[in-house]
Formats: sequence, structure tokens, C-alpha cells
Amino acid sequence: FWVMELDKMDENDWKYHGEGNKSLVVSHLQHCQVLRLLKFPSEDSAHTRQTAEQAFRHILNIVDYSKYVMKPLLGEKYVHSGEVVKLPLDFVRQLSLKVQQERPELRCDKVMDTFSGCGLCLPNLTQLPLHHLRDHRPPICVEIKPKCGFLPFSRHITKECKRKVCRFCMHQHYKLANGKWKRLSRYCPLDLFSGSKQRMYVALKNLLEEPQNNLKIFKGGELIFSCKDDAKQQPDLNDLIQHLWPYFPHSNGLHNGHQPGKAVLNEFIQVICSSLLSGGDSNRSGEPRKMHLSESRPHCEASPFPRDLLRNGNHGLPKDSVLSKILQVQMLDNLDIEGIYPLYKRVEQYLEEFPKERNRLQIDGPYNESFMDTVKNCPTEDDGSVEYAVGKVHQYRVAMTAKDCSIMITFAPCEEDEEHQLNLEKPRFTYSVSILDLDPKPYEGVPHQYKLDTKIVNYYLRSTQAPP
Ligand code: ATP
Ligand code: ZN
Ligand code: MG
Ligand code: MG
Repeated sequence: FWVMELDKMDENDWKYHGEGNKSLVVSHLQHCQVLRLLKFPSEDSAHTRQTAEQAFRHILNIVDYSKYVMKPLLGEKYVHSGEVVKLPLDFVRQLSLKVQQERPELRCDKVMDTFSGCGLCLPNLTQLPLHHLRDHRPPICVEIKPKCGFLPFSRHITKECKRKVCRFCMHQHYKLANGKWKRLSRYCPLDLFSGSKQRMYVALKNLLEEPQNNLKIFKGGELIFSCKDDAKQQPDLNDLIQHLWPYFPHSNGLHNGHQPGKAVLNEFIQVICSSLLSGGDSNRSGEPRKMHLSESRPHCEASPFPRDLLRNGNHGLPKDSVLSKILQVQMLDNLDIEGIYPLYKRVEQYLEEFPKERNRLQIDGPYNESFMDTVKNCPTEDDGSVEYAVGKVHQYRVAMTAKDCSIMITFAPCEEDEEHQLNLEKPRFTYSVSILDLDPKPYEGVPHQYKLDTKIVNYYLRSTQAPP
């Protein structure tokens, strides 16, 4: 077990790993650990920037939120909350210079925080710590940002289309119009969360064809497949097949003699499906687990999945599966933003009158057990109180985190002697499933979400229902 020596940090031991909208991640060259550092808009002037103290509080909030709120809701085995570390400023500055040239252009509107020296230390989930180097094939990691997997059911909804077409599919049209992406993704979260192998297969295949920021694939901790920086360029599936080939040696000639590449992708998707439906970690993923039958999940009208195939084998999600856990938390948003916005305004009005109540109501944290109690014990009926309004806004924010998280599935071939392997029909893998990116969503984000929802829905209605 390796313990980071904070006073002996050397930027040469770390390399650029990846980044999102809020943070930049570097990985250790030898050990299975990453550092997650916050980013700021580059135009922030020195005095609007967070102080070191605020940055420390911010990171502490992230860890607390993961530990006391998201982990109990999503399950111990899926969540790794990490630890706050105070890094030497010199190390952080050198690191920032070192990674700058590796960063994708579309992320360079923000800069890494080199002022506070605060970071988050996490296990490197693209690796398998117990995977001994006896096998020459390094672990494969599939990162999926699944987004919202259900159709809103709230009585506060004013536009009928929201009950038929999912948010992701509607948002695609808006993003295309705004130049965020050059092509529509055919991925639909409702297919992924359906629990039906057929629908999940289609969802994953569509992610492979247009990954946007919803799919990344790593091999031995290195990114090998993602959306291209140049949005016009499509990712290379043949390249991916070349990487995956050694993991599925049997697919050659098994199902599809003349299209072996297709057979490799097919087996790869099956492994992802099985781990998404499994209980989290297991040594063998080749065999599908016993399915838990429940009501079938609804369908999105914008999904390309053929309607006439919907009835076939439509199982629900196994209760302990990572997808089921995420979906349950997403569904804490049971009023929809249209029902939440008036409650947010109730809280705002109350705070205007009693500004000191902001702390007691834990609007900006701390995210501890008492915050979690408010989330869990919020009354179901509106009694007109500010407590009800705060409880529902808290629940909404928790749901938003679950709509924005990522799933990491990491697998590697089981160490079995070659002879044994040859007799097996299917390759066997050791795998582990985790959930990451569980940051709290700001309370102030509610009005923005309300406006964005209106824009997306109105744009969708105009672009799909306009007369020719
Ligand atoms: P988003 O824009 O999706 O909100 P973010 O800025 O909050 O992203 P993360 O998603 O936490 O940042 O991290 C950015 C990327 O770094 C992830 O997509 C993932 O590829 C990688 N990453 C983050 N944490 C880990 C980890 N513990 N192990 C391995 N890779 C990680
Ligand atoms: Zn959809
Ligand atoms: Mg992310
Ligand atoms: Mg995030």
C-alpha cells in the first residue's frame, strides 16, 4: 500500500489523465491513484477568484457530499469518495505547465486551480489494483455518462412532449443548433436503463458510433476511444477493434466469419451489458446473472429502437445493479423542474426575510448526516412550509447529481492457464463497477435549469413539429 508523501511531490511522477467541465485529473505513473484538481473560468480576475480557504471548503463539500449523501443512496461498493489533500503550490504550478499541451482545445476555456493547493486524491478507476501483471492484457475501462434514464411523471409538467420524449433526446437537437456537436447522437438513456438486453445493446452501439461526452474507453489507464477534439471527425471503430481483438480471441469465426470485427464489438457490448446488470463486482462476468423481473421500463419516442421489438424480453433492472441504483436516485426528482422552481422561489422569499436561516437550512452545506436526513425525510405532501420547499430542492439537487454522474466499468481477463482458456466458449473477466463525478449541484442553479428546460422543450417543438 502506497501513501502519498505530500512534501515530496514531483510533477514527473504524474501525467495528464482527463478532464470535465469542472475538474482536471492527473494519474500517477506507477500507483493506482489520481489527483482531481478544480478548474476556474480563465477570465476570473484575482479578486473574484476563490480564496484558498474557500477552495478548501469547496473540495471538502465535494467529499462530504459523496460520503454522506451519494454513497448511502448509491451503495457502498460503487462509490469512492476520496480524500482532500493539501499540495505544495510549486508542485501544482509545475503540474499545470506540464499538462497544458495535453489538454483538448475545447476544454481550454478554463484553467487549473494553481492558487489554493487543494486537490482530491482518488483511486484510479481505469485500473484494477489487484490485477497482477501475469496477464499481458491490461485492463479495459469503459466510462459511460448515462444521463437521465426516465420520463418525468410530475403533474406540474406543462408540455406534453416531456412525457413522451426524454430530456437527452430533446437536448440533442438544441445542442446541434447551438454548435455544441456536429451530429445527433442516436443514444437514448431510456434504452440503456431499460434492463432489456436488446435495448441496452442498441444504446451501447449508438454510444460507440457517436460517443460525444457520454463514452470513453481506456486501456491500461490510457484513453483509446472518445469523441474527437475536432467535432467533424468520427472516432475510429476499426482502431478500437484492433485494441479489443486480444480480449476476445474466440470471436474470430465464432458467429461471424466474414465480419470478425463486428463479432468483437458484439462480445465487448455483451460484457458491458452484463456488468451493468450485475451486482457490482464479481470475478466472473461471462455468465449472465439471474434476472429480477419487474415492470418494463418505458420507451422514448425519439429513440431509434424499433417500436415493434419493444415487447420482446423486456425485463426490468436487477435491484442491486448500478443502473437501478442510479435510476432510483435520479427519480428523487419527482416534481420536475417545473414543480421545483416555485418551491425554490418560496425558499428565496423566506431567505430574503430571514437571511440567517440560510445556515440552519444547510442551503450551501455542510453536506453531513443532517443534510441527508432532510433529503430522506422530506414530507410527500406540500404543507406550505419552507421546510418542505427546502427538502424538495435538496432532493432535486441530489437527483441532478445522479443525472450527471459517470459509470466506470473496468475489466481484465481472468488469470487462467492458457489450456483452460482454450476450452472455454466465452472469455472470462474480472471486473469492477464504480460511480464517479458525484459533485453537489449548486442551489443557485435552479433558475438556470428552469430557463434551460423551457428553451430545450420549445426548441424541440419548433424543430420537430414545424410545418414544412
Ligand atoms: P463533468 O464535466 O462530467 O461534470 P468533471 O469536471 O466533474 O466532469 P470528472 O468527471 O470527475 O470531472 O473527471 C473528469 C474525467 O477524469 C472523467 O471523465 C474520467 O475520465 C477521469 N476521472 C475522474 N476521476 C477518476 C478516477 N477516480 N479514476 C480514473 N479516472 C478518473
Ligand atoms: Zn430518448
Ligand atoms: Mg464527469
Ligand atoms: Mg462533474
